[in-house]
Amino acid sequence: MEDKNPSSNTITFLGTGGARFMIISQLLASGGLWLDLNGTEVLLDPGPGSIVQATKRKLKPEKLSAIILSHRHLDHAADVNIMAEAMTQGGFNQHGWLFAPADAVETEPVIFSYLKNYLEGIEVLKEGKSYSIGNISFTTPVRHIHPVETYGMLFTAAGHTFSYIADSRYFDGLCQHYGGELLIINTVFLESRPPADNPLTPTDHLSVPDAEHIIRELKPKVAILSHFGMSVWRAKPWEIAERLSQQTGIKVIAARDGMRFDLARLDSI
Ligand SMILES: [Zn+2]
Repeated sequence: MEDKNPSSNTITFLGTGGARFMIISQLLASGGLWLDLNGTEVLLDPGPGSIVQATKRKLKPEKLSAIILSHRHLDHAADVNIMAEAMTQGGFNQHGWLFAPADAVETEPVIFSYLKNYLEGIEVLKEGKSYSIGNISFTTPVRHIHPVETYGMLFTAAGHTFSYIADSRYFDGLCQHYGGELLIINTVFLESRPPADNPLTPTDHLSVPDAEHIIRELKPKVAILSHFGMSVWRAKPWEIAERLSQQTGIKVIAARDGMRFDLARLDSI
C-alpha cells in the first residue's frame, strides 16, 4: 500500500459495482467514493462493504467530516450506519454531518436514531442548493429521474471542479446542470432501456450511449465511468472507455475497484 501524500487531492473508488445483481454478487466491490480534498475527507454513497473497502485501503473513517448520500437505495446507502459509527468512533468523538435527500432521513430513515445523535447534524439535500463541509463545497443542481429522491453533485475543492452524476434516467437538461474538469458518471446499462410496465424492471439508469452523449455535450478534461451493472461489466468497461475516448476525443477512464484518481492529473491535460 502506497503512502498517502498529504498534499494530494484524491478521489478513491471504494467500489465500482452498481445496481442490484452486481451488488448482491459483489463481482465488483461497492462502497462509494472517498474524497480527500484540501485536507477535508468526505464519503459519498457508502454502499455495501464501504467499511471493509475503506479499512482495507488504509482510509481512516474517523477523519471523515461528512457522509453524503445521493439517494437511499441500498447500493448507495447500505453502510451509512456503520460508517457513521466509524466516523464518530462509536460515539466517543461526536462530529460530522450527514447530507441526504428528505426521503432518506424522514419517513423511513436509513440511519438509526441512536447514531444520529453521534453526528453534528443532518442536512437535507434539496434541488438547487449549495452546501459546504470544511474545504469542500458542492451543489445539488437538479433532482434526478429515479424511483427515489436523488441528486448528483457539482463539487468545488482544491482549485478544481468536478461533477458526480448519480443514478438517473437520462433527461433533457441533465447535462446543463453539470460541468467541471472531471465528470464521474454512474453508467449502469450497456444500452438504453425504454420505460417498462413492470416496476421490478429497472430502467431509470444511465447507459453507455447516455454517457457518450453527456461527455460530448459537457466536454470535460476527463470522464470516469463507474457504478457498472452486469451488462457493462460483461462488455469490459475498460474497452468501452477506450472506444469512447477515441470517439469523443476526451480522455475516458473506466474506474477500477480501489482506483485513486489524483486531481493534479487534470492540470496536465
Ligand atoms: Zn439507485
